[in-house]
Amino acid sequence: MKVAVYIRVSTLEQAEEGYSIGEQKDKLRKYCEIKDWTVVKEYVDPGRSGSNLNRPSIQQLIKDAPKGLYDAVLVYKLDRLSRSQKDTLYLIEDVFQKNDIHFVSLSENFDTSTAFGKAMIGILSVFAQLEREQIKERMTMGRIGRVKSGKVMEFNNPPFGYEVENDNYKVKPLQGAIVKKIYDMYLSGISISKIKETLNEEGHVGNPYSWSDTRLRYILSNPTYTGKIPYRGKIYEGRFTPLIDDDTFKKVQQELKERQVSTAKRFNMQLRPFQSKYMLSGILKCGYCGATLFVNSYVQPNGHRRLRYNCPSTYKSMQKAKKYAVKDPNCPFKLVYAEKLEPVVINEIKKLALHPDSIRKPKTIHHNGIDVAAVKKELASIKKQQQKLIDLYVISDDINIENISKKSADLKIQEEVLTKKLSQAVEPDNGKLINFQNLLAKSSDIDQLSYDEQKFIVKKLIKSIDVYNDDRIKINWNI
Ligand SMILES: [Zn+2]
Repeated sequence: MKVAVYIRVSTLEQAEEGYSIGEQKDKLRKYCEIKDWTVVKEYVDPGRSGSNLNRPSIQQLIKDAPKGLYDAVLVYKLDRLSRSQKDTLYLIEDVFQKNDIHFVSLSENFDTSTAFGKAMIGILSVFAQLEREQIKERMTMGRIGRVKSGKVMEFNNPPFGYEVENDNYKVKPLQGAIVKKIYDMYLSGISISKIKETLNEEGHVGNPYSWSDTRLRYILSNPTYTGKIPYRGKIYEGRFTPLIDDDTFKKVQQELKERQVSTAKRFNMQLRPFQSKYMLSGILKCGYCGATLFVNSYVQPNGHRRLRYNCPSTYKSMQKAKKYAVKDPNCPFKLVYAEKLEPVVINEIKKLALHPDSIRKPKTIHHNGIDVAAVKKELASIKKQQQKLIDLYVISDDINIENISKKSADLKIQEEVLTKKLSQAVEPDNGKLINFQNLLAKSSDIDQLSYDEQKFIVKKLIKSIDVYNDDRIKINWNI
């Protein structure tokens, strides 16, 4: 019988006993001698993984199969042929059996020319796959073992303030001091945007990029600075110098939570932390073709995340993947970075807040001769008087109940008259405009607010923004 021998070894296995190319060759040759088979060709894939068929010699073996060069393929172990169930079955059934080629694996004493061998094909393939899963699992366990023993993940970008040295984090003196300064400033009551401003005004020392709220927030909530290693949702004890003590870190986490709550109170808004992360996402339109800009973020090697917006019309892979998003394949839009565009938008809001005259005034329309705004004002005043009466009744012991009852009844009648009047008037739609103006009035210091606050205001005040090249924008206000 003419036999083709196939030998594979991965880079990792090369060092392991019993897996070297020489040893595999040796065992296979001896086996052929005993069986009185002739080795016609040796196919060797050194340093190749068995997880796919992207190996030169296995490809040659497949090519040679229909040529009648060999009657059987011999391997040392089934996983030498492939570590994938799919590929193993493909090779045995579609390549070998189709060409009347037997397949023999030495270690498993497995021969497809026998009935037993045929039955074993499926089973062994399953085991080959299982083995692969186990390798993956072992690798994961290895990583967890690594962090458990206090070693940092070397492939991680070290957080700002640290560098990697000898498998561990080492404090960078300048950057480390800045981290401490950020924590100190925050705990002394300074807002994140104010810290950002200060650091950037100082020339963002030690940091190649200007500071952003997101980055500062990330630094303020990263447990690594207390000497811990966060990994897969758990926190492990590290073996490197902490920059922040546990107590300070805890206080900052508490403060972050509280300030978020007060933000919510100030604007009477519900903070949904996982909704719409970015200030401008969804409201930007390409000024040239009208398509909605899409956002993508990428993490730079230093761990700093940058956001950019682009027009789907100009994005080649997008033209293929999402044809419907493309409005004009010749669109001249150039991508824009969020960190450049956001301040431009914030500045426009500030300008409008300081000069609100440019917005139209709420209309006072007299429907059926009724001044709706005036009636509403009166009603509100009656409600206030009623509440005052109730308060008075609750806190005073020697109050004349009769007197109160009379006053209360008077108010009640006035209220009914006014409510009836109001129901006869058709109200002009000023609600939206009034809401807009109220929020705008609170927004004159928008550039001093936190990212979340700014985001909230932007989404409320702005319907959409047409974006042109060189950071030129046209805002469509939500009125
Ligand atoms: Zn466009």
